[in-house]
Amino acid sequence: MPFKALGLHPLILQAIQETGYTEPTPIQAAAIPEVIQGRDMIGIAQTGTGKTAAFTLPLLHRLHSSSPSRKQATRTLVLAPTRELVVQIEENVRTYAKHVPIQITKVFGGVSERPQIQALRSGAEMVIATPGRLLDLMSQRCADFSQLEHLVLDEADRMLDMGFLPAIRRVVNALPKKRQTLLFSATLSKEIESLTHEFQSNPKTIQIGRRSNPAETVTQLVYEVPRHLKTALLCHLLNDPAMDMVLVFTRTKHGADRVARKLESIGIKTGTLHANRSQNQRLRALSDFRSGATRILIATDIAARGIDVDGISHVVNLDFPPQVEDYVHRIGRTGRANAIGDAISFICQDDYGALRSLERFIGRGIVRKKADGFDYTVAEPPVSLEEQRRGPRTQGGRRFQGGQNTTQGGGQRRPNPEGRSAHRSSSGGSRDTRNPRGQHPSGRGR
Ligand code: AMP
Repeated sequence: MPFKALGLHPLILQAIQETGYTEPTPIQAAAIPEVIQGRDMIGIAQTGTGKTAAFTLPLLHRLHSSSPSRKQATRTLVLAPTRELVVQIEENVRTYAKHVPIQITKVFGGVSERPQIQALRSGAEMVIATPGRLLDLMSQRCADFSQLEHLVLDEADRMLDMGFLPAIRRVVNALPKKRQTLLFSATLSKEIESLTHEFQSNPKTIQIGRRSNPAETVTQLVYEVPRHLKTALLCHLLNDPAMDMVLVFTRTKHGADRVARKLESIGIKTGTLHANRSQNQRLRALSDFRSGATRILIATDIAARGIDVDGISHVVNLDFPPQVEDYVHRIGRTGRANAIGDAISFICQDDYGALRSLERFIGRGIVRKKADGFDYTVAEPPVSLEEQRRGPRTQGGRRFQGGQNTTQGGGQRRPNPEGRSAHRSSSGGSRDTRNPRGQHPSGRGR
């Protein structure tokens, strides 16, 4: 089906064509006509299958095709969980809106408020924001959403989990009741879905594939390894030149720094992305990774959602993800837009239960692999004085720091990607040519 058949404005079709997209993805083909009609919608499709364009293209069409009831008013608000995702969505929207005169602005923390305040006061038609900074500016009365027509929650299940929900409720309470509300994600538990009636009226659910499925183009592997040998195994695997663009996830910010230092010490250019870094450092780390200036990016779950970097060959879960949904999102950073990629997870003894839960969730077993030529028998080094001071290791080397230390299931508190406290109620091989699509909207690529 051509894009032309979806009813989009010719100026938007022109931008799509210039972007190099030849036909809509399944979620786009299904969602765009419904959004154009003004329906509330829940859109669920696998990672990397074009969800951003599925909501931004028809919303741009709606903004361009009807006049605002008042000039210079914010008509569309898109909320996303991380600053990086806000930046990325805005880049995409600007590309698609190239030929239509629509003011777009982004609002997120860690950078100066002033330009954001000015843009909000001047009534940018489309605002793309993280909830925290937006609420700050709303409480300073910088934003007027009285004319708002469309609200989007991207990564909807993340936005409606307990970490973000109070903030989302406060934002939504300040919006007109009569509006179109769109929720998009690759994963959405029934539990979270039951919350959506609070924000939407009679939504249409469009689901492409199973809602817990990782992208089919990602090959998944598990390496069992003693905890103290994880970094050594990563270094060993990185000898494979096929691992040329690798995103590594760690559980903690300090863990990310530690692994990055190790890789740098053996001459591997490495960046880090986590909440202890300044916003400029975060954006720089991402752009260096995108451009190929660094081969490895080590990140916490800040980078798990939505981030679209062309050509990631491998995702490595150095630490097993805390929630099954996080796994699906993390490995979805590779295998995007029909490219292929590998996802490698390191498993220690105390991850077995979490691995079993994951395999149940995704409905299949994950292949176990052993690295050729790697010495799994190296003994754990003796505990240093510093470590002794910090307390005993658990069985797998992880320390208890008070509270629960489980990686599974319901009810534990955990930090969300922006570092707030959250409470969830739900629960190297070689590769070939990756990216069959044309030019990327923001000119990304290696
Ligand atoms: P998203 O899931 O929105 O992050 O998109 C994943 C990737 O697919 C991005 O790099 C998009 O630029 C790309 N993409 C989105 N729509 C299409 C399309 N219709 N044809 C080819 N690539 C697309």
